[in-house]
Amino acid sequence: MSYFLAPALAQLRDQVNARYPHRDRTSDGWIGDASHAARPSDHNPDWSAGGIVRALDLDEDMVVGLSYAGEALPLARALLSDPRTRYVIYEGAWSYGKHVPDVLHGWKPYTGPNAHRHHIHISVRDVAGYDLDARPWALTDTTTQEDDMTPDESARLKDVEKNVGEIETIVRQLREKATRTEARIVALKTMPVTVDIDAPVLADAFGELLKTLPAATAKAVLDGAAARLKS
Ligand SMILES: [Zn+2]
Repeated sequence: MSYFLAPALAQLRDQVNARYPHRDRTSDGWIGDASHAARPSDHNPDWSAGGIVRALDLDEDMVVGLSYAGEALPLARALLSDPRTRYVIYEGAWSYGKHVPDVLHGWKPYTGPNAHRHHIHISVRDVAGYDLDARPWALTDTTTQEDDMTPDESARLKDVEKNVGEIETIVRQLREKATRTEARIVALKTMPVTVDIDAPVLADAFGELLKTLPAATAKAVLDGAAARLKS
């Protein structure tokens, strides 16, 4: 008996290939190797169902030149919305498909031997003919809720939120400081400026000063002052 990839997954792979014709396929795979064969794995053929393999690995590097952690997350999310999906593993997390009944949905940390940092693993359900269903998949993710974030993403979002919080505090402090400075400028601008010169008092003080000087010096000061007043 020979094994074969579940028609649902063959269809999915064809679609991904058509959509991303230049994608990296290094981490692709479906049939289990010796290490898979030694343990229960959806990559092993189910001989009780004619040798069907219900798991597919897809390399995350879909777009040439684009390479960052979690770049295939939109695709992983889209797969979770399809009723054929049993579960998906990606970026250190795993989740049951949204249509799998009687299980906890949402991403949970994945602690298996391979953290799946470079590929998406998808297993299809073995009930109701889902694995044999080769209708086209919807590859576009339409979920945006925070509930659908992976643990890694949530951690990154928390970091960003913390930074944004610190920046907001700094901006608020700067704004308060600017308001205080502005208030001071307004106060200075509107402050009445009056300089009172009391001429008789000044003249008296000047007279007292002259008395302390030698006569010749006092005369020179008076002459100088007179000359300056004339000019
Ligand atoms: Zn796999």
